[in-house]
This record gives sequence, C-alpha cells and structure tokens, in this order.
Amino acid sequence: MTDKIPSTVGMSQSRHIKVWESCLSIIKDNIPEESYKTWFAPIEAISLEGATLSIKVPSDFFREYLEEHYIDLVSRTLKRVMGKEAKLLYNIAISKDSSIKLPTHEKIDLENRVKDPYKQNKFISPFAIPGLQQIKIDSRLNPNYSFKNFIEGECNKLGYTAGLAIAKKPGGTPFNPLFIYGGAGLGKTHLAQAIGIAIKEQSPKNIVLYVSANIFQTQYMDAVNVKNKLTDFLNFYRFIDTLIIDDVHEFADKPGTQNAFFHIFNALHQSGKQLILTSDKAPVELMGLEQRLLSRFKWGLSVELLPPSFETRVEILRAKSREDGIELSDEILTCLASNITGNVRELEGTLISLLAHATLNKELITVDLAKRLIDKIVTANNTEISMEAIQEATCQYFNITRDTLVSKTRKREISQARQIVMYLGRNLTRRSLASIGASVGGRDHATVLHACNTVTDLMETDKNFKRFVDEIENELKNPFKPFRS
Ligand code: ADP
Ligand code: MG
Repeated sequence: MTDKIPSTVGMSQSRHIKVWESCLSIIKDNIPEESYKTWFAPIEAISLEGATLSIKVPSDFFREYLEEHYIDLVSRTLKRVMGKEAKLLYNIAISKDSSIKLPTHEKIDLENRVKDPYKQNKFISPFAIPGLQQIKIDSRLNPNYSFKNFIEGECNKLGYTAGLAIAKKPGGTPFNPLFIYGGAGLGKTHLAQAIGIAIKEQSPKNIVLYVSANIFQTQYMDAVNVKNKLTDFLNFYRFIDTLIIDDVHEFADKPGTQNAFFHIFNALHQSGKQLILTSDKAPVELMGLEQRLLSRFKWGLSVELLPPSFETRVEILRAKSREDGIELSDEILTCLASNITGNVRELEGTLISLLAHATLNKELITVDLAKRLIDKIVTANNTEISMEAIQEATCQYFNITRDTLVSKTRKREISQARQIVMYLGRNLTRRSLASIGASVGGRDHATVLHACNTVTDLMETDKNFKRFVDEIENELKNPFKPFRS
C-alpha cells in the first residue's frame, strides 16, 4: 500500500501522532460516534518504536474494555496503517488498584447533572464536585423487609446470625462479602434488605444501597456509551458504604457488566466497605460468571437459605397473619403448615387466599375453610392442566366461543387465540403436537409447531400480546386469582 507510514526508529517526534491519527480516521468510520468518543477520543499516542505504537489509556478498566470490544478492529487498523509487524503497547494512566479513580485532568460537565443521581440513573462523582458528599442517596430498601418481620429458623440460622453481626459492624466482620443463596421464595431478598435496614438504623451515616442485578446492568448499559458517564457510574458506586446486589446470577454471560462490577467490588472491598450479594445458586454452581468474580464471592461467607421446617412454617404463618391483624388458631396454622410445604412465598400466598376468601364470602376462618382451600391448591398443583381447560380459559379471556376457536376462520383475533391455545398446550401439557392439533379442529403437527414459533416471536416483540398469554397462563396455574383486577 502506498500510503503506509514507514515505522523506523528515530523518526520525527510527531510520527506516532500521525500514525495514530490515521488509525483513528479508520476506526471512526467503523463504530458509532458515541463509542468512538468514549473509547478512542481519550487515547493519546505516546511513542512509536520500531513497529510498536504505545498509547496511553486512562485506566486498566479502559484497556480491558478496549481489548474485549475493539481488539479486532484496532489490530486490523494498525496492520493496515503500519504493516503486518504492527504492535500495540498500552500505557495505563493509573494503576490497576486504583483503576476506577477519575483521572485528575478529567473535566466534569456540571450541566446536565441532577441532585439525585441515583433516581435518574445518572451518576455524579462525589469526589469531583465539592460539597456533594452531602447528597442523600435513596437506599431503595423496603421497610417491610426488616429483621423484625423475619422469622429465624434452622433454615436460615447462619444467614440470620451473620446478618446481625454485619449490621453491628458493616465491613468489619469476616463476612465480606456475605453471599446469600437458595431457591426462589426462601427469603434472600428479605434477609439482604433486613441487614441493610439494620445497618442504617445502627449507623445512620453508613450509605446503604440496595440494587437488583438487573437494574445495575441497565445503569451500566446506559452509562457505557456516553462520555464521562461510565466514570460517573463507577465513581457513584465507589461512594457506597454497604452495597447490596440482589440476584447476581443475572450477570451471567454479560461480560461488560461483570467487568464493571468486578472493579466496583475491588474498590469497595479494599476500602473495607460491606458487600452483600444474593443468588439462586452457590458460587461454585454459577454458570456464565467469570472465575475472578466467583473467587471473590467466596472470600467472605456463603450461606444457603433452605426451605423452612414445619415449626418455622407455623411461626411464619402466625407472624404474617398477626401483621394482617388476625389471630389464627393453632389448629388452622398446623393445618396450613403441614400441607403447604414449599417456599415462604407459597405460604404467604395461601394465607392471603384464605383471608381473601373469608372476607369475600363473609365466611369465618375455620379449619374446614382452610382444608377446602388447601384441597383446591394441592389439586391445582398436582393435576396436569388439560387441553380443555386451556381452551376454556382462552375462550373466556378473549370472549369467544369454543366453536369459533376450532372453526376454519382465519380472522386475526381468532387465529391468534387458537395459536395461543396450541402454544400453551405445548408448554403446559404432555400432549403430542399431533394430539394438540387434533384438539383445535383437526390441525396437523406442523401447524402446531408454526403456532408455537409465532407465539414465541410475538411475545418477544409485542408487550400486549405477551400480557395476554401470561394472564391466561396464570389463570390456568392459579385458579383462585380473579382475571383482571
Ligand atoms: P427470594 O428473594 O429468596 O426469592 P423473598 O425474600 O422475596 O425470597 O421472600 C419471599 C417472601 O417470603 C417475602 O414476602 C418475604 O417477606 C417472605 N419471607 C421469606 N423468608 C421469610 C422469613 N424467614 N420470615 C418471614 N418472611 C419471610
Ligand atoms: Mg429475591
């Protein structure tokens, strides 16, 4: 290529700058402008020795991000500009340990800033703007999830005890991070928040933040493409004294978010801040998370929450009914606790059904009523949902007759209802494609398969459609709830 810039030692001082500028002009054409501004504009070329171009990047995080997202583009470009031998050397403005600090020359754009950065998903670096240390951060804790409302039992003893110790000395116990894991509805969110609430009560100055992994991920995605925002995001989190991240298994297969979290974790842990994480699985079983994160999760204490024992179920039911102002007899409590044996959320659900049922039908809450309700719930949980039930629920939902549903009509609403029936049949029963097809007016298995794919696609693109399907499915699974409240 004629426009290649020779890369010999001893060239004029500005040679490296020219080489880098040629690279930038190519890179610029290949990526969105915002990404260019964020990830390439801040890079400075510092020297060119032989075929090695040295560039200065603001932080280690920055380098990792470049490597992860742009390495192909950069190396292709370098080779094009400098030839096959081209090599790139990073010079990091700040070291690994402090890699998420703002470079000192970074200018903070004071416009477009808001007082409550968290609420608006914007992040102010509290270190960069004098006087901002005073900002109030909404901890996002739910006051109902306090220790006062949390029943201790064998199933959660270790987590409970560790939680109380952490509340006394956040960051000052060996339980850092505290990693709480266990199945759905067993109290992970409740316990994690209870610790946060107790910390705030005992140390009002401690800045506590509860955030779900999903929200963290969204904030990261919002920040990543805008200049300065990522630094603000990272610095915002450095400001937190107790960081609670719920459902970290949601970080699986999201390397960018994991990387950002990794840096935040390190910065907080190194400065003695408390981390509390929850997950549906133990660290060793978490798939799709980087090893370096998993190993950090194991630094502190991992505790599992187990399904509650009979005695604990009775205590939970007693406490929940008292919260609702109702004193249930031991007989009723025993009856409920011996039949509803799954997680705490199910216990709560049954109790709510019982209270609602009694109120709506002006019935007294008796053992008999409890038994009838349990029978219904247990039967509903154990019996497979039938094609007939699916058709009935769908027809009722869309207000059409069964005859219309199975007819030949291709009217959109009707054929969509029919497709939903086939889709639910596939997902909720063990019937074969052919037999599902036969039950909706003699369609063949290919039609059923096509219907399933169409419904899956529509659910992804059309929120309303998804709501229809979800509501019908819920109705089928939980026949006690009214359709649309
Ligand atoms: P998870 O996050 O593990 O899915 P949650 O923390 O959301 O579960 O708990 C589900 C429901 O059960 C919540 O309403 C919570 O208050 C309640 N709960 C769970 N464990 C307990 C407990 N030990 N004592 C009282 N309520 C509990
Ligand atoms: Mg939860």
